[in-house]
Amino acid sequence: MDKKEILKTSKEYEASLKAMKPNIIKDKFLENPYDDEDIQKGMNVVSLSYDYAQDPKHKDLMTIESPLTGKIINRFNNIPTTKEELSARLKMIYTLSTEVTCAQRCVGGDGLWALFIGTDQLDKSNKSKTNYHQRLINYLRYIQDNDIAPATAVTDAKGDRSLPPSEQEEKNSYVHVEKETKDGIYVSGIKTPITMSLYTEEIIVLPGLQYSESDKNCAVAFAIPSDAEGIERYALGPDVTSLCGEFCPAHGTKYLNKEGMVIFNNVFIPKERIFLNGEHRFAAIFANLFATLHRFSYLACKPAIYDIMTGTAMLISEFNGTKGEYFLSNTSEKIFEIYKQSIIVSAMAKSAIEAAQVTESGAILPDPVYSNMGKYVASEYFPTAISILQDMSGNLPTNLPYPELLRSEKYGPHVSPLFARKKGISSEDHYKLNEWIRVFTASNEAGLLQYGSKHGGGNVEAEKVAIYGNSLRRMSQCKKMVKKFILDK
Ligand code: SF4
Repeated sequence: MDKKEILKTSKEYEASLKAMKPNIIKDKFLENPYDDEDIQKGMNVVSLSYDYAQDPKHKDLMTIESPLTGKIINRFNNIPTTKEELSARLKMIYTLSTEVTCAQRCVGGDGLWALFIGTDQLDKSNKSKTNYHQRLINYLRYIQDNDIAPATAVTDAKGDRSLPPSEQEEKNSYVHVEKETKDGIYVSGIKTPITMSLYTEEIIVLPGLQYSESDKNCAVAFAIPSDAEGIERYALGPDVTSLCGEFCPAHGTKYLNKEGMVIFNNVFIPKERIFLNGEHRFAAIFANLFATLHRFSYLACKPAIYDIMTGTAMLISEFNGTKGEYFLSNTSEKIFEIYKQSIIVSAMAKSAIEAAQVTESGAILPDPVYSNMGKYVASEYFPTAISILQDMSGNLPTNLPYPELLRSEKYGPHVSPLFARKKGISSEDHYKLNEWIRVFTASNEAGLLQYGSKHGGGNVEAEKVAIYGNSLRRMSQCKKMVKKFILDK
């Protein structure tokens, strides 16, 4: 490792996970969680972000000199300060996402970034009577100096949605402070579903909502090693055992987004790792900062997904011979319907960068309206794009014969004619493409992808609220403008 470089190898990352105290439960307690195939596939996704940082082909994109330490670090752990850094960050997420669909490591970086801006605002509003920002800087230095890929846990279990936390019968529906001592706080509660939580060394916790004075014990932000005393992690569904076999795409056989639930049972958080503690007015500020930043990150992975879908649509129409050669074909229009989303979301990303503002903390904040609108548009259209792909591929992806038969001397010649399409395309290639479409549109994992696209980083309602809330001044100008040319003539 170069003196100035703090870049762990993927082997070192995996070794750090394996050295932690096991606390992961799937259908039973896992003594060796990183031997579990699904968890391993999730770990492989994060490993790729370490491998790419070492790879000369991607190194410039994946790394940056830290203004804090002067060392070369993984870009995910850097706090962006310029528009160029915002662009590079999105390019990095796009590049990883074209291989793994969800880069996952964005969540930790976005959590650090949100805390960097939020703690600065909080200390300033407290007239510097608190030192949350300095604590965060110390923590950031620790993360950078050890090249840790943290997870960020925001969403609480939430219980009865009509009641605030203090009126919930089940107190653990929200992560809350149980007790405070001079050395720190004790917290309990459930955060779920939390991306990357099963294969990380550190968990950053942020409030998920705004809280009133009576719920101020939920207004808490902190960071904690993921094997700390009192933490339990649960591997969540779906069961993806169908993602295997020689014709399954690498995405299913090697990579997976395996979500986790994190339960805090009276976990001690030392003072120096607490970044918000009872200042309830700031709970919403922290939550909204994270939401904006994570939705901004979506503006990189979603164009990647739409580009993957565009390529898939083009390939299946080529394989099937429906590329517009006969008069009823409207394939080009269908491909266009998918592809246009990539352009729209990418344009939102460019606008969010163009209108970004440097905050008092020194960190830059992408424009919240364009960030939220980009995520909103990407999510809203996703089921339509999936449906177009299903339409274009016919019913073969969900009705494939067992793959072993293709290789069988006896049955291979019987089933191969099913795959006869354009001359020159082998049965194997046709099988692989249809299997990929099945994985992407009709497997358990496809369901996870669709749910993730809807709810990840907040659902569309939350995005609308953010867009509306940040657009009130402009919208009232719209009203004034119409009044002027209609009523005040
Ligand atoms: Fe990153 Fe979230 Fe997109 Fe996954 S879904 S690549 S974690 S922004």
